[in-house]
Amino acid sequence: MSTVHVLASPSRYVQGKDALATLGPRLAELGAAPLLVADDVVWSIVGPAVSTSLAGVGTSVVREPFGTYATVAAVDSLVENIRAGGHDVVVGIGGGSTIDAVKAAGHLAQIRWVSIPTAASSDAPTSALSVIYTDDGAFLEYRFFPKNPDLVLIDTQVVANAPVAFLVGGIGDALATWVEARAVARGTGTTMAGGRPTHTGTALARLCWDLLWENSLQALDAVRAKTVTPALEAVVEANTLLSGLGFESGGLAAAHAIHNGLTSAPQTHGLTHGQKVNIGTLTQLVLEGAPAQEVEDFVVFTTKVGLPNTLTEIGLSTDSPELAAVAAAATVEGETIHAMPFPVTPDMLVDALRTIEGLSRRVRAAHGLPEPVLYVHA
Ligand SMILES: [Zn+2]
Repeated sequence: MSTVHVLASPSRYVQGKDALATLGPRLAELGAAPLLVADDVVWSIVGPAVSTSLAGVGTSVVREPFGTYATVAAVDSLVENIRAGGHDVVVGIGGGSTIDAVKAAGHLAQIRWVSIPTAASSDAPTSALSVIYTDDGAFLEYRFFPKNPDLVLIDTQVVANAPVAFLVGGIGDALATWVEARAVARGTGTTMAGGRPTHTGTALARLCWDLLWENSLQALDAVRAKTVTPALEAVVEANTLLSGLGFESGGLAAAHAIHNGLTSAPQTHGLTHGQKVNIGTLTQLVLEGAPAQEVEDFVVFTTKVGLPNTLTEIGLSTDSPELAAVAAAATVEGETIHAMPFPVTPDMLVDALRTIEGLSRRVRAAHGLPEPVLYVHA
């Protein structure tokens, strides 16, 4: 049991409408020869603004495309490109996978790294760790680094222009932060930052939760209108900065372990990280015997946000044989579920997963909310 308390954070966090216009000078402070990593779709959206900003300080634009997942091969290939091009800072532009691959590559190549998320869809950008996947998109491993990104920059107009589903996913990821951090604070487990949580880390997780409950529905309205409002700014900060600091330094528990377990079920492929995490959060609330009102409020709120809270909505059912494999994967040694303040067995987890189906259907019906629709992976 560790009695050391640790907080980790990126060196600089920059958020706002048209923040990309400030990238050139910020990047010039970190290196002279950046390698920008972005897939073709992302580059078609932000490439012009990034290029203009870099040109303004005389920095040349070298862009490397990216595939779908942060795999071992994708990371190694980036390292080769960094060395071949003599780059001194690598910049991940796009979603969580691009950013995770860039962090891992920057660490291996021993240069600085920068995260530029183009949606507020996950809490990956600020942390000092990457999630590595198999070629098929199943969870493979966490990789930990001795430092966080040198810069995280998020342009809220880019977030407002992105599909609303990205923000929905980010809210799902961020809602887990407080539920997991308070479980870790109650127990004796350690966080991804490498110690017991600080009061600061736990408090940031709580602030993340409060901002989401107050602002999420209006932030979704803003993204549907492609506008930047104070509600959107609050949710972007919650999803990106507070969820990032909150998970890394407040701690992960059952919800993310259940997410990782769910990636082993092929039916769930194609769903976003945050959608699967939301199933994990509700399952954790059941597992820990959270107050009935809190569970009910969570089902109502996440249904209104548009997040799944039934097995049906992630392509599974209470009879799915995959539930046993999900529970086994979520409870392997080293998984964050063991930071819960009580021991969790695979049997307990299968029971909790099977419970959420009827629970959410009952609460949704009682509140006049729509019935779940079966998710079918294309
Ligand atoms: Zn997450």
